[in-house]
This record gives sequence, structure tokens and C-alpha cells, in this order.
Amino acid sequence: MAVAVPPHILAIPPYVPGKPIEELERERGITGSIKLASNENPLGPSPRAIAALAAALGTLHRYPDSTGYRLTRKIARRLGLAPEQVVLGNGSDEILALLARAFLQPGDEVLLPEPAFAMYEIEARASGAVPVPVPLHDFRTDLEAMAGRVGARTRIVFLNSPHNPTGHRIPREALLRFLARLPAEVIAVVDEAYVEFVREPADTDPRPLLAGPRPVVVLRTFSKAYGLAGLRVGYGLMPAGIAAVLHRVRPPFNVNRAAQVAAEAALDDEAFLAESRRVVHEGIDFLRAGLARLGLFCLPSEANFLMFALPGEARPVYEGLLARGVIVRPLASYGYPRHLRVSVGRPEENRRFLDALRAVLGR
Ligand SMILES: *Cc1c(COP(=O)(O)O)cnc(C)c1O
Repeated sequence: MAVAVPPHILAIPPYVPGKPIEELERERGITGSIKLASNENPLGPSPRAIAALAAALGTLHRYPDSTGYRLTRKIARRLGLAPEQVVLGNGSDEILALLARAFLQPGDEVLLPEPAFAMYEIEARASGAVPVPVPLHDFRTDLEAMAGRVGARTRIVFLNSPHNPTGHRIPREALLRFLARLPAEVIAVVDEAYVEFVREPADTDPRPLLAGPRPVVVLRTFSKAYGLAGLRVGYGLMPAGIAAVLHRVRPPFNVNRAAQVAAEAALDDEAFLAESRRVVHEGIDFLRAGLARLGLFCLPSEANFLMFALPGEARPVYEGLLARGVIVRPLASYGYPRHLRVSVGRPEENRRFLDALRAVLGR
């Protein structure tokens, strides 16, 4: 290509999504596959969201509400925050992009756990910033090491709790102590994409995180527990001053009309959320027990997925599962060539995964 690509763009590692069912079935000429690879809600979307969406289809010729007036207010009211503290995004991914665009300059440093969700590094690099990976310690975010790496050029610190792919949640007290140690000019981003699955609700109130004098941004999404990954809607909770900066760089219609309508209805569908939590908690317990029976070690998880270790290379096991129509997530790109991540499915999907795994391992 004749066009020069800036070196910081060439340095961006490509994002590897979970394999879509359609792709697997096209490649292998099979049907009836299941996907347990992207931590999606196994129950589908909230029925109230589907109904609200259907009722709104006739208004799709109108641009969406730019600030998501109703949805931001509903979220703020739920969480005991001011509406000015809520910024909606085209998935919580977009909030990462807005933060990077608004606050990072070439040469700035961004701390992130290693491994972590790929978008932290991608957005940092896209802004010309320097990602500073801090390895997990014993599969947990190493807050001590991260605090030690904060320097004069550090602008953003990314944390993910519960962490993808380990499922580990940073204990509340440790998180608050860490945030209190950060310099006032460093933004801490706490990605809580899986927070709805945490079993201890007292630990999920975002207000203590946002109460301190430091700039903290809490990321949440409708993609996981609310079952709306395909519509792309998430949000950030933050000081109003940070929100005002993000609005400067936010595309005016970043969250589409369908997504706003469906997310509002999903928030009201408390029965669906409770059922999603129940299915995930039971599924986690079922999968843990099944993996243990196969002699496989898995990490404790507070999210809707489990990371488990294989005796050797995971790739042939991943391939063997694909051949049986079961898609899970290989973790070699996360630096774990001997681990796989499986998302909780419906009970029959979980059983099918364990049966396929038993067959592949020849147990
Ligand atoms: C799934 C996930 C998200 C959610 O991304 P959306 O853009 O809201 O769909 C964010 N962070 C992590 C770590 C995730 O695993």
C-alpha cells in the first residue's frame, strides 16, 4: 500500500473476537453448534427489551436522542448518581475509545494488567500512548506492582474487575486503597463489564469508588447480564467534569435509537436479570464440578465464564471441541497456551460442552 501508516497504528495488535457460530458452520458444513466463547447471555435478550424494541421500530427514521436523556437518568437513579455522571457509549468499548481520544497524547503512559481485555492496549496505542503492561500475580491483578509503575507520564490506569479472562474480582477494600494512592492527575478506569454476576451485591455499589477526590471512571455494559451485546450499548460512571470532556469528542449519535429503547426496558426487567444471575451461578457451579471430575483445574470466577487449565497445549482441545460443534475461547493470545475459557451456557449447553470435552480428552 502506498499510503504511509503511522508506526503507532501499525503497532496495534489485531483484536481476535470469539468465533461466530455462522463461520464455524460455514467452514465445516455442520449445524447445531453452540458458542460459549464471548460471555454472552445464554438466555438471549430480556423479553421486555424485545417488546420495547418491536414497539419502537416505526420511529427508526428519527435520529436518536444525542445524550440518551431517558436512559442516562434511569441509570443514574438506579445507582444513586447524578445524570451528569453517566456517559453512554456504543458498547462500553466506545467509552474506552473516548477516554483515549480525550485524554491521551503521544508518549503518555497507560498502565494495564497483563493479560487483559485487548481494547485497553488497542485504544492506548491508537492515541500514540505507550501501554505499560503489569503481569498478573497468581492470576490476580497485582495492585502493588501497578502502584509501583505509576510515573510522571502515567495518564490512565486500567483495571478490570471481575477480570477477563481469569474471573477474579479485586476485593473492594484493596481497590479503594489502590485508588487512594494514585496521583490526582491519573484517571483510574475500573471496567466492571461482569459486575452483575458478583454474588455479593454490597460490593457492587459504584458510589464509594467515585466518592474520592481522584478521577475514577467505572465502566458497565448491557452486553453481558442484560443480553444486548448485538445492539452495542454500555456506559461509564465518572465525575461530571470528566463526562463533560468525553462529550466533546463523542459522536453525537453514538448510541442508536434501538439500543436506547431496549436498554431502558432491560433495566426495568428485574426478573430477567435475576434469572440471568441464577442461571449463571448454577452454571458456574455445574461447570466447576464437571471440570473437577475430569481432573481439570479451574480458577474461581465471579463472572459468567471459567478459565481452566489443560495438561498440555490447549489448541488441539479447542480444535477437537470445534469439530464437535462447541466453540470456546483459546487463551494463547492472552499468554495462556495451556488454558481455555468457557462461557456459561444454558444447562443443556453446559452438559454438551462437558461431554464434548470428555470425548476430546479421551476420558
Ligand atoms: C465484554 C467486555 C466488555 C463489554 O464490551 P461492550 O463494548 O460493552 O460490549 C468490556 N470489558 C470487558 C473486559 C469485557 O469482557
